[in-house]
Amino acid sequence: MKKSLLIKPFLTKSYPAASYGSGIYIYDTEGKRYIDGSSGAVTASIGHGIPDIIGKMEEQSKKISFVYRSQFTNSPAELLAHKINEAVNSEENYWSFFVNSGSEATETAMKIAIQHFQEQGLFQKNKIISRWMSYHGITMGSLSLSGHKLRREKFVTLLEDGPNAEAPYCYRCSFHMEYPECNMMCALDIERAIKRAGNENVAAFIAEPIIGAAGGVIVPPPGYYEQVQEICKKNNVLFIADEVMTGFGRTGKMFALEHWTSEADIIVTGKGLSAGYAPIGAALCKESVLHPVLNGSKSIMSGHTFSANPQSAAAALAVLDYMNKHQLIEKASLQGKYLFRKLKKLKQSTPVIGEVRGKGLLAGIELVCNPVSKKPFPRKAAVTERVINKAQQKGLLIYPATAGERGYEGDAVIIAPPLIVTRKEIDEMMTILQAVFQELLQELCKEGHH
Ligand code: PMP
Repeated sequence: MKKSLLIKPFLTKSYPAASYGSGIYIYDTEGKRYIDGSSGAVTASIGHGIPDIIGKMEEQSKKISFVYRSQFTNSPAELLAHKINEAVNSEENYWSFFVNSGSEATETAMKIAIQHFQEQGLFQKNKIISRWMSYHGITMGSLSLSGHKLRREKFVTLLEDGPNAEAPYCYRCSFHMEYPECNMMCALDIERAIKRAGNENVAAFIAEPIIGAAGGVIVPPPGYYEQVQEICKKNNVLFIADEVMTGFGRTGKMFALEHWTSEADIIVTGKGLSAGYAPIGAALCKESVLHPVLNGSKSIMSGHTFSANPQSAAAALAVLDYMNKHQLIEKASLQGKYLFRKLKKLKQSTPVIGEVRGKGLLAGIELVCNPVSKKPFPRKAAVTERVINKAQQKGLLIYPATAGERGYEGDAVIIAPPLIVTRKEIDEMMTILQAVFQELLQELCKEGHH
């Protein structure tokens, strides 16, 4: 075998080669079976190898796989935009701008927000406010908004000003206060950031409704997004919800923002939109946000060669149909309750679990030296990496959430199985997790970390 020339996340590490997938399982070329306990990067949300989806993709590819969007529209993309609009819980229409990834969807949302004000002659309103402990993408614009040191640090010279508001991280409150006596200082901090920049200079505020990889799943308290929306409205600032990880049923609702009574002006999506069957992301934009563009230059100044291609749109359409047919959002909510009951039980018997948190089938486990003092492990102990590796050895894939300074400081892992997961499969995951934590505990005690 020739040496590998494929650039992988770690160039010198060896990775198992995936062979095929079926439901929540992935099999490597050696025949080892893994439970896809994180749906890859919280993406493969309806599971692997589903014949309905493959059939519809094949049907589309036999017709046509690619047309260029300035020459043709196509029925899968048109229909997908309609179905997405029906899926958004709002009185207002949301238009879809299709791209190929979550990062591109964030970039598009940034541009739409800025253009919204430019078309009204408000050329100065072009800053985007974001929070620490956040991830919005790997491209320079989206990375500028991301509070994730690990992914930022090599490129800071090319990035715009970083995030400017504190995260709603109640477990370790930046203001050393407790909900509800805190009066949600973290929400007020967004207003402070807008004021600091001058609201005449701010186009939008962006946030993940539930923080994912940069925080190990952080759910803000009740009332938080209602207040955020009010602050944005008051300051004539658009609210962009980054639902790349949380959208399309992951948290037991179509979009995570539905857990609050708040509406975003632009919704950023990716991952679960096609559940990994094809690359696609989308910026969903309220009709009222588009009005100045419709009345002005009539064109969103963004787009990619593969934007709105019929092949990816057909895959996403098939996934949405499959989710409806099998009521996967309701199932995610139900099975999520079961998963959290099991995880909370695991916490009771595992003294290094500081907190279990999340919604639906998006769960975070924060790991600490001491659950009373909440003291984190030193980074050099590489606790997250050890949990991930041990789980993988035992046939369970889970997702890391270490981000570094002003992203997540300590150790956390994400559990997010496909929404088709059964109770029996959750039990199987829990048995492995229990063994992982037992082994870890023994090692940490020996090393004097616990
Ligand atoms: N936003 C969020 C909340 C994400 O979780 C991610 C991916 N982890 C992105 C944006 C970027 O998406 P992509 O990797 O598809 O570019």
